[in-house]
Amino acid sequence: MTIADTTTPVGGPTLPQERRLVTAIPGPRSQEVLDRKSAAVSAGVSHSVPIATVAAGGGVIVDADGNSLIDLGAGIAVTTVGNAHPKVVAAVQQQVAQFTHTCFMVSPYEQYVDVAEALNRLTPGDHAKKSALFNSGAEAVENAIKIARKFTGKTAVVAFDHAYHGRTNLTMALTAKNMPYKDGFGPFASDVYRAPLSYPYRDGGLSGAEAAKNAITMIEKQVGAANLAAIIIEPIQGEGGFIVPADGFLNALVEWCRANDVVFIADEVQTGFARTGTMFVSEQFGIVPDLITTAKGIAGGMPLAAVTGRAEIMDATHGGGLGGTYGGNPVACAAAIATIEVFESEDAPARARAIGDILLPRLREMQAADPRIGDVRGRGAMVAAEFVDPATGEPDAALTAAVAKKCIAEGVVVLTCGTFGNVIRFLPPLSISDELLREGLDVVADALANS
Ligand SMILES: *Cc1c(COP(=O)(O)O)cnc(C)c1O
Repeated sequence: MTIADTTTPVGGPTLPQERRLVTAIPGPRSQEVLDRKSAAVSAGVSHSVPIATVAAGGGVIVDADGNSLIDLGAGIAVTTVGNAHPKVVAAVQQQVAQFTHTCFMVSPYEQYVDVAEALNRLTPGDHAKKSALFNSGAEAVENAIKIARKFTGKTAVVAFDHAYHGRTNLTMALTAKNMPYKDGFGPFASDVYRAPLSYPYRDGGLSGAEAAKNAITMIEKQVGAANLAAIIIEPIQGEGGFIVPADGFLNALVEWCRANDVVFIADEVQTGFARTGTMFVSEQFGIVPDLITTAKGIAGGMPLAAVTGRAEIMDATHGGGLGGTYGGNPVACAAAIATIEVFESEDAPARARAIGDILLPRLREMQAADPRIGDVRGRGAMVAAEFVDPATGEPDAALTAAVAKKCIAEGVVVLTCGTFGNVIRFLPPLSISDELLREGLDVVADALANS
C-alpha cells in the first residue's frame, strides 16, 4: 500500500475518489449546520469552505449533503499522509484504549520519547539534539523563543516581513499581517523587530546576498547583535504567500547568527514533514537551524507540535520551565509515530516531488496563457500562484477571491494566502491521486478563465 491509495479508513466506509456535486455548495444539510454555527460559535472563528464535513480521505472531503470535494488544502498542510490514514487510525485506536493522558510532567511515557528521538534523528544536522513537545504551532514558536532567550541571556527577537507564526500574544507580535491576525488585539509582546525579506518577485530581483545584507544592516543598526536572542523565519513563508527566498539569503542569515551568538530558528510548521519534497525544507537551502519548530503535518491530523534543536540550547532551561498539561499527549504521539513511519516507509518526500511535477508545469502553462498570474512558485506539494493586475503589477485580491469562490462552488477546495490576499496556494494531501489532482487543476483553470 502506498500513500496514494489509502482511501479507506480502517473499519469505515470506502470513500470514492471523485468530485461529485449533488447539491449547490452549501447544500441544505450543510446550511443547517452553518446556521447553527453562526448562532453558537464566535464570529471571530470564520471558515473559507461553506460545508459541514462528514468524512475525508485520500484526496476528497465529503459533506453532509453527499457532495465530494477535491481537497487541495489538506486542512492547511496538516493531513499530509491523508485523512484517516489506516496506520494512523490503528495507532490512535490502540493508544486511546490503553491510556489517554497522564501528563508527561507527572508520569512520563515512552511514546513521547519515541517522537523526540524521531525528531532528533530526522531534523537537519548531525549534532546532538533534543526536543520538547507542545500542542500547536504557535505554542512551539513561543517556546522556541523562551528557549533562545534563556540560552543567550538576551531578549530581542527579529522576525521578517510577511511572516506568520501564530495567533497567541507573542506570535501575533512576530506575525506581520494586521488583518485578520492582529487588528485590535494589541498591545503586543515587546522587543520584537521586523526585518526585510527576500521576495524575488517583488523586491526587484535582489540576490540572496543583497537581500540578506539589507536585513543584517537593519538588525545591526536598529537592534544590535548584543541584544538579540534569536531570529525566526519560515524558510518558505506559508500564510505570507509561499514566498521562496533567493538562493543564499537564508545561508547568509545563518552564518551571521553563528558569528554573533544569535539563535537561528527555522519555523517549519508549514514546510515540515515531506511537504516540500524533502523531510524539511531547510535541507533544500543547505541550512542547519539551531532550533526548528514543527506542527501541522507531524501527526496525521492530531494536535501536536515540537521544538527540536541543539542539545546545549534545549538544555539551557531549568526543570519545569517548559511543558504544559497536554503537551505531547500520548494519543497525539501515537499518531505522530505512525505518521512518521508512513513518511519513511512510503517515501513521502518522493510523492511530494511527484505532486510538484504536476502542479508547477500546469500552473506555469496557465501563467503563460494568462498575464493575471504574475508568479508561480513553491517546492513539492507546496506551490502557489500570485494574481496581479497585468497593467500595473498590483496585487489582485478580488480576482483571487473570485477564482477561489468559483473553485469551491465547483467542488474543489483551494486556500488563499498572502499579505495582499492575492495568492492561491496548493497543499494537497500526498494521498491524492494524480487524476484527482489534474481534475482539480482543470477546475482552477476554468475558474480563472471565467473570472
Ligand atoms: C500554522 C502556522 C503556525 C501556527 O500554528 P498553529 O498550530 O495554528 O498554532 C506557525 N508558524 C507557521 C509557519 C504556520 O504555518
